[in-house]
Amino acid sequence: MKEAQFENTASLGAPQEVADSRWVVMKFGGSSVSSAENWQTIANLLKHRLEEGLQPLVVHSALQGVSDALEAVLTSAVNGDPSGVLEDIRAQHYDLAAALGLDGPSMLDDTLHELDQLVAGVRLVREVSARVRVRIMALGELMATRLGAAYLESQSLPVLWTDARDLLTSRSRSNRPTASNYLSATCDFGADEKLQKRLQAVGKIVLTQGFIARNKNGETVLLGRGGSDTSASYFAAKLQARRLEIWTDVPGMFTADPRFVP
Ligand code: ASP
Ligand code: MG
Repeated sequence: MKEAQFENTASLGAPQEVADSRWVVMKFGGSSVSSAENWQTIANLLKHRLEEGLQPLVVHSALQGVSDALEAVLTSAVNGDPSGVLEDIRAQHYDLAAALGLDGPSMLDDTLHELDQLVAGVRLVREVSARVRVRIMALGELMATRLGAAYLESQSLPVLWTDARDLLTSRSRSNRPTASNYLSATCDFGADEKLQKRLQAVGKIVLTQGFIARNKNGETVLLGRGGSDTSASYFAAKLQARRLEIWTDVPGMFTADPRFVP
């Protein structure tokens, strides 16, 4: 695999401590983490970064289509039967696990059980609060990253799976309606030396979720649909990383959206 060369960060005007930082944040979206072939590419990219002496923090989202499917589960739990979509979600994770040589059921059945329980609660009351919505949506990212971390470890990469909620704290905006504090929260992203030290000490690739954080009361919150890019940007800013790489599943570097420009 041939990779584009990244320019020296100092020459782009970065402050010296950023240019010298060993941190590189790498974000992978749903399509990039949904096939065994793409995971091989990710493992290779990480090997290159380690060879360069960098310390990667990997951020990734739920498997392709899973956040949409979880939204569909919520809708049908309120006014229909979610069992078909739940089955699809389960199958999608088991299939990827099998393709990665992992034991999906033993790795994910706790979380899938939690999903079933939460959905059963919604079906019972036929309504869904913002808090319950958040807890259900977060499971997509949590399950996907479990598989990702286990696969990278199986490829002899040193990886620490980390709960993003222990890394990102949301701001409370009391002037905003509560639901958006849960569903599209924003977080502090000032340089965070404590976090830098803590994660440096780990001495491994840190792999964590996009899209989720915790509020000051310890409750899970979301950063809004498509929020994994935002998560990755927060991490890069907090770590004063040399670079934030946002990877997507297209061949090469595009100058226009391929859905609109052939
Ligand atoms: N999985 C979340 C979504 O689909 C976050 C993301 O992909 O950025 O909205
Ligand atoms: Mg996206």
